[in-house]
Order: sequence, then C-alpha cells, then structure tokens
Amino acid sequence: MNVLVVNCGSSSLKFQLINAYTEEVLASGICDRIGIDGGTLHYKSKNDSNFARREDIPNHTKAVELVLQSLTDKQDGVIKSLDDIHAIGHRVVHGGEFFKESVLVNDYVISRIKECSDLAPLHNPAHLMGIEACKAKMPDTPMVVVFDTAFHQSMPPHAYIYGVPYEWYEKHKVRRYGFHGTSHKYVSQKTAEFLGLNYAQSKIIVCHLGNGSSISAIKNGQCVDTSMGLTPLEGLIMGTRSGDLDPAILEYISKREDLDIQSILNILNKKSGVLGISGVSSDFRDLLDADLSGDERAKLARHAFAYRVMKYVGAYCAAMNGVDAVSFCAGVGENAKFIRGMIVKQLEFLGVKLDEEANNICGQEAIISTADSKVKVCVIPTNEELVIARDTRVIVSQL
Ligand code: ADP
Repeated sequence: MNVLVVNCGSSSLKFQLINAYTEEVLASGICDRIGIDGGTLHYKSKNDSNFARREDIPNHTKAVELVLQSLTDKQDGVIKSLDDIHAIGHRVVHGGEFFKESVLVNDYVISRIKECSDLAPLHNPAHLMGIEACKAKMPDTPMVVVFDTAFHQSMPPHAYIYGVPYEWYEKHKVRRYGFHGTSHKYVSQKTAEFLGLNYAQSKIIVCHLGNGSSISAIKNGQCVDTSMGLTPLEGLIMGTRSGDLDPAILEYISKREDLDIQSILNILNKKSGVLGISGVSSDFRDLLDADLSGDERAKLARHAFAYRVMKYVGAYCAAMNGVDAVSFCAGVGENAKFIRGMIVKQLEFLGVKLDEEANNICGQEAIISTADSKVKVCVIPTNEELVIARDTRVIVSQL
C-alpha cells in the first residue's frame, strides 16, 4: 500500500510517498513559499531524481497538483498513475481533547479540527487547506489524520491542569496538551525494542531536541507528562522559543518596551530561545562555532539549553518514580554530540555514565552510556512520516 504523507504549513507542503508494507520512501520533497513570490518544488526520488523547480504556487491545491504531477511524471515519477496512491496520511498539530488516536477523515473530523484552530491558529487552518486540496484532486482516496497531541492525551489531570481558575479549562479548554506526540510515541517504542525492554512495563524519557524541542515521560507505554503546554511555547529553551517563563514578564516588558501582547508573543516564539540569548543563531552548529571562538553569549545559550533539559529529566524521573532509559532524537538530539554530552554529564545523580566514544555517532541508533551506567542513554532517530504511514495503513486496511 502506497501512502502519501502530507505535512502542510501555512506556506509549505512537505510530502513523502511511502510503501507502507516495505516502509521504503519512494519519493519526498517540499513545496515552499506557497502564496508568496518565489514558490519552489524540491523533489527527490528513490530513482535518483533530485531537483528544485521554481514555479509560482498560489495555494495548497496548486502545491498538491505539482506533487502529484512529479510523482506520476514519466521521467522523475515513481508511480504510473494516481491509482497507485492508495491512501493519504495528514499530520495535524492540534486535536484538542477530541482525538486520542489517528482517525479516518470525515465531516465530523474536519469540523473538530476546525474547532481546534483557535488552539493552533498557525497550523490547523493550514492542515485543513492541505486536506481540502487533496480531497479536490483525489476525492475517492481515503485520508487519515495523525495528531501531534494524541499521544499526550493519556496525561493525568494533575499533569495537564494549570494552576489557574478551573473555569478557564471548562470554558476555554486551557490545559496542557503537548506536541511532537508522534515522535515521542515512535522513539519511546523504538527505545524499548532497541534495549529489549517490555514497553508495557518501562519508564522512558524522550528528549526531542530540534528547532522546536520537547521532552516526555512515558510510563508503561503511556505518556504521563510532557513539557509543551497549551501551545508549543512552554517547556524547554528552544531554537527561537523561550520555553517556561514567569507570565508577569509580559506586562513588565509591555510597559518598558511599549509592546502589545501580540508583539511580545511574536518575540517569545521567533526571537527568543538560544537565538535570543546568544544573539548569534538558533542553529546549534553556529552556536558551537561561536562558542569555540570565545563568544560568551553563545556559550551561555548552550549551557542554559542543556541545564533546562537536565532539570526536566530530573522532574520526570520523580514523576515516574525512576527511569530505565533516556533517549535523544530530532536535529539536535541526533546530531549535536556536544549538547548531548553536556546534558548526559549532568545526569550523574541518576548513575548515568556517558560513553564518550559512543557519543560521537550522528543520526543512527546507538547506546551512548557505558555498560555499567545505571540508566541507559540512547540516540534513536525519529521518523514521524513513518508513523503517519503506518497509522494510515492500519486504519485504511480496516475499511
Ligand atoms: P524542526 O523539525 O523543529 O525544525 P529539526 O529536528 O530538523 O527541527 O532540527 C533542526 C536543528 O537541528 C537545527 O536548527 C540545528 O540546530 C540542529 N542540527 C541539525 N544538524 C546538526 C548537526 N550536525 N550538529 C548540530 N546541530 C544540528
């Protein structure tokens, strides 16, 4: 079964065509600058096609059209016709409290995703445009939605409730939801498999460290806590997002810098995190270079980032009353050995010992703790597209 995995942002559409039985990626790419001048389709296939084509992409429907044309193209394509796409799996950021798992798209599901748009105003409307665009081009192909929030729906109320008037939760759904759930689920399962643990009786902490970063506590296969909240702004210090802060800062800065809430939130989302602290970059490669050439603020940014991760690991050990394994994934977690090293060395209180040699690896499954480390530390590359393809296959196979 070939599954087209689609991940729509407001001005981009990422895709992968995956054979959901062999799990081979047949083709992948991205349409970016949708609705903006300079639209481009980047396309790569298993047959070594690899190109970037400039073409105006006024809307998501046009983006879907370009993707489908490339996939079926005589020269660059990997399938003969659209009939060879058996199902479509869409990533959707926010499913609120409605969805605890992936579901088949129907009118009810679409209306609920719309209802959650207030909670994810940048993401959900874009996903809906992607769903509509695919529906317009392939009306008879079954579609499934896979939510970033679903895996975290198992959090108990005491972990998801904020210390604010309960009516805010009842009236406005103000609670912690968590994101990157597809990645946390995949990496925690893979960690158990890789280490030979029984997933249903394990305590795993997953550190998804990318440009956006979050961390989860997964006990007996269920997420019991995670660092992102109502929105992805809460939790760790990220590439450009602040993570946790004192909410009183909003009023304090609003008065002193003469900024309204919207402008401050924009800064907290796009100009904060390690970029804001360092003034150098949100990219950890740039921070390392700057740090090595003596930039004190780049050093501070890296230390603050690692310190926050360590604090969350400590908190989640307490939440689960122990931990069997800690896993790193995503751009930073899979590749930035210096950051991993800084974090793991601060976990000595858990009896964790870093294997410096093993920690040199990038982008592959590995144990980076020593054989006598009390808690295993792993690198497990994440693969959200694969989870979407798998969930889509399972749901569509039942039709
Ligand atoms: P997102 O999906 O949230 O945009 P990713 O998981 O792709 O982010 O992570 C991107 C980040 O990973 C980059 O900003 C960079 O900081 C980091 N990164 C990627 N490759 C490397 C590397 N080789 N060394 C250090 N950091 C890296």
